Amino acid sequence: MSKLLTYPLDEFHLPSGGIILKSSDGVEFKVYKNILTLGSTFFETMFSLPQPPDSYSGDSSKPIAEDHTTETQVIDVTESSATVDQLLRCIYPTPSPSFRGISDDGEITKEEEFIKGIEPILGAALKYDVQTVVNKLCALMLDAAERIRPNGHLRHDTLAVRVYALACQFGLKEVARRAAHIALKGRVAGIFIEDFRKISAAQYFALVTFQHKISKIMSKAVQDSCHSSHVKCNTCGGSEGSATSVARWWTSWIDHARSTIVESPASEEIYSASLLRHVYSRPYDCSVCKDVWRRFPLVSQPLKDKLKEAIAENDIDLSEI
Ligand SMILES: [Zn+2]
Repeated sequence: MSKLLTYPLDEFHLPSGGIILKSSDGVEFKVYKNILTLGSTFFETMFSLPQPPDSYSGDSSKPIAEDHTTETQVIDVTESSATVDQLLRCIYPTPSPSFRGISDDGEITKEEEFIKGIEPILGAALKYDVQTVVNKLCALMLDAAERIRPNGHLRHDTLAVRVYALACQFGLKEVARRAAHIALKGRVAGIFIEDFRKISAAQYFALVTFQHKISKIMSKAVQDSCHSSHVKCNTCGGSEGSATSVARWWTSWIDHARSTIVESPASEEIYSASLLRHVYSRPYDCSVCKDVWRRFPLVSQPLKDKLKEAIAENDIDLSEI
């Protein structure tokens, strides 16, 4: 015997024009046809067709369900009640549902839980072609992955990689591409997450190769930055008196930056004020290089531009997705 719930709105009692979505665990959701039609081209097409005498079954492997106790059409779906509930809350003009692994203020508390929670809802949204929900979930994941905090206690190094894996699973190329770009801020090599079991070797290879390629380009760009006139100093430079000497603080910065870029080619940490303060402290400070805070952006900005250029010219190859 199935339970009858009134999700997603408590006051919702379906006077007319509704259908019942019956989840795999037998929970019935009374919903307005119109709202489903607005959100989903799948349902729009289904409801525009002449209705069969029996109810439609969302699962073609199951016999078509019939509901003799009421005239309301029952649609059996293969998703669990938890997934149907979340999906409807995304479609209905109600506050967004709360997802697993994310706090009320949008902070990811558990990356793995977060992705596990999104996966079935995204799968259902794609299956029923609810584009607005697909967009909403993808934006939520990418936004969360973007917020890598290099100096904070929350370091979402693996979130972008998890989003990449999930996007690959569902064939969402642009989301996978965006996630791969964000993943450049963190580590990929040497990381193993269970999500990798769900993607192909080609998809994994594409991510690792992309990371490696950008890392090589940025490492060289950082090394070449010593040619910039903005980091030259006749006083503290290696060959004293030479007009081509690189300031000590910049040599120190290059050492730090390169060791970070090897693993995280798009790390924002290397441009942080704290690193600059660190490399300009003794014994790398200099009476002539006191304008280091003015000089730094002049040489770091071209590196940031170089990163964008490197990504544009060597973008991840997603032809296998
Ligand atoms: Zn100097």
